[in-house]
This record gives sequence, C-alpha cells and structure tokens, in this order.
Amino acid sequence: MDSKGKCINFYSATPGSNNVAVNDDEIEVKPAPLPEPRPLAGEERELLEFLLSGPVDSPELRAQAEMAMVWAVCSCGCASINLRVADDAPRATLTGPEVLPNGAAEISATGMNEDGEEMDVTLHVWSPNEGYYVRKGGAVLAEIEVWPTLAIGDSTYGYKKPPAISALRFSTHKWMI
Ligand SMILES: [Zn+2]
Repeated sequence: MDSKGKCINFYSATPGSNNVAVNDDEIEVKPAPLPEPRPLAGEERELLEFLLSGPVDSPELRAQAEMAMVWAVCSCGCASINLRVADDAPRATLTGPEVLPNGAAEISATGMNEDGEEMDVTLHVWSPNEGYYVRKGGAVLAEIEVWPTLAIGDSTYGYKKPPAISALRFSTHKWMI
C-alpha cells in the first residue's frame, strides 16, 4: 500500500499537542481533538474488536480496547479516529510481522464498502513512552485509520463509510513479502 494520501501521520501528533500532521497530498489532515473524549460508537467498536480478533492475538490490546476512548477525530471528516487507553490498562508487547521497521505496529484489513469502494482499515499501535518501540512492551492502541479519505479522480473528500465487518479481510504486511 502506497503511503500517499494516507490520512494521518500520527507519529507526529501527540495527544494534547498542537502538532499538525500533513499528508502527501495538499489537503491538510490532523487529529481534531474532541471537547471531551467519548466512548467508541457501535460501528467503531465492532471495527476495533474485529481488528483485534485476527492474526495479532494480544489479550493486552483487547483489554485496552474495552476501556478505550476517542480523543480526536480526523480533521478531514473521514471515519478515522484517535484512541486513548486508560493509564492502568496493560501494555502489550508485539513481536510479529505487524511490527513496522520504525518500531510501531499496524493491523490492517481491506474490503469493499457498500458503495463499491475498496478501502483499508488499519489499527495503528505505538509505544509513546518507548520511542515507538512496541517490542519493548509499551504498545498501546493509537488510531483506527480508514483509507482512502479522498474520492479518487476528483477533489471531493470526506466521509466514506468503512466496509462492513463481513467484507473485511486481513491484509498481508507488505514489508514481509
Ligand atoms: Zn481523514
């Protein structure tokens, strides 16, 4: 998957900061903090639980998910959400192919939404207190990214309904091929 057009460069955005993340296109996207963190909506929770039910089997991440809150949504109006986990939720150690060369991790699935658009749904996991190295046991849920956010071929962008759970298939990590 090409990174061009990806929604949020979350590595440069930390909760409560004013950092601005910009993607490769000219549309600026960044986490837009909510006035108050909110629980995940029903479909968001289903998506999160699905992503944690696949090849990455982490009881710690599932425990984090139980109490996770949405602290920001994407400024572009897409369905991507930024997650905050409880301070006392267990941290995970990830060592499988989901770990990226930069030390963060991602769990991706792809599928077609009800409008016939092929979309990727990616759960980003990072370790904010350990230099992003999830291998060191500090892994926490960071973001569910829904991609693409832009309508291909024209300049409209905004909300695209994520694929139904039944349409999603876990993706092979390209860096393992
Ligand atoms: Zn977005």
